[in-house]
Amino acid sequence: MPLTARDGAVVHSGWAGLWARISADYTLGVLVLGVLVAVVWLLPFAVYRAWQGNWVAMGNDLVLSVLLSGAAGYAWRTGDTRGPGWVVALAIVGGIWAIGLAARFAALFWTYPGVLMLFFLVPPLPAVLLGVVAVGGAASLSWQELGGTEGLPFFVFTAMLTALLGYVVAQQAQRHITGWRALSLLDALTGVGNRRLLELELAQAAAKGQSLGVLAVLDLDHFKAINDRLGHDGGDAVLRGFAAVAQAVLRKTDRLYRLGGEEFVLWLPHGQRQTTEVLLQRLRAAVAAQLRTGDEQPVTFSVGVAEHACGEPWPACLARADAALYRAKRAGRDRIEWTATEPRQPARA
Ligand code: GH3
Ligand code: MG
Ligand code: MG
Repeated sequence: MPLTARDGAVVHSGWAGLWARISADYTLGVLVLGVLVAVVWLLPFAVYRAWQGNWVAMGNDLVLSVLLSGAAGYAWRTGDTRGPGWVVALAIVGGIWAIGLAARFAALFWTYPGVLMLFFLVPPLPAVLLGVVAVGGAASLSWQELGGTEGLPFFVFTAMLTALLGYVVAQQAQRHITGWRALSLLDALTGVGNRRLLELELAQAAAKGQSLGVLAVLDLDHFKAINDRLGHDGGDAVLRGFAAVAQAVLRKTDRLYRLGGEEFVLWLPHGQRQTTEVLLQRLRAAVAAQLRTGDEQPVTFSVGVAEHACGEPWPACLARADAALYRAKRAGRDRIEWTATEPRQPARA
């Protein structure tokens, strides 16, 4: 199977790209919404507060705008929404307190979207605790505007209702996203990662500019004959069995993907030549000993291996491993072949 960087990868740009990323990660969606709040509301208000001479309120609005925009920008660049989620959640609670101190009644209004958003930014328990701090701050700082003890139950109950809505919707979204990821990134037959996950994880690791370690392409030998002997279902069972045996042999950090058919990719992020050789020999022995086809014919596989060089595009490294696999097949199968060609050195600046 030819391996190219563009195969199967869906790349969006502009609004379509923004929408695709937000659809895949709701925390990123809420962070982007934070930028909208900063640009459409907080920044114009900062100008208005300055015109009023209310420097404290202006400072609050400016600090909140910077925090919201900075967190969203970081999440957009790195794809990491955990840290920025916490920053914005704390900014929401701090912001409600600051608004309560500087502008009093306005804090009551901001409490509603604030407590709702918390559930999209941090896990449920911290979201509840931060929500209590936000509601407590808004109620105590806007006590008169709230109507004192008369208004308090209404405020607390409606804020709780909004928080509950946030919790339910965030949980539903989380379940859908987890299910969607499992469907779209895992191989349905064997349960290991699929080609799309391989591309995603390698591209992410490559973006960090570090060496990817070792990539190996594994292909079961004479699988067509196995299918002929055992039938398609029997062949499927062999594929499932192979993935299970491999998973048991591999270490936690090793990654296995099914590329398609009876072809798998093994990514050893910390792999070196010697350790990889030992691991692959162990896998050969485990497959020979544990993978039973029912007709006592042994199952074997061939491997092409390439060591990644810093700066080398990952598809090029995978193509080198694929070429080595081709040589292993031609040399008689049931063997491990290392890449012959040295990777090109990265271009000098
Ligand atoms: P080689 O040793 O050269 O790799 O020979 P091979 O027979 O393993 O390779 P070939 O590419 O000729 O045949 C692969 C076969 O795998 C053909 C195809 O019908 C079968 N196959 C592909 N996907 C699946 C699958 O999901 N399940 C089953 N049971 N068979 C599959
Ligand atoms: Mg094969
Ligand atoms: Mg094949």
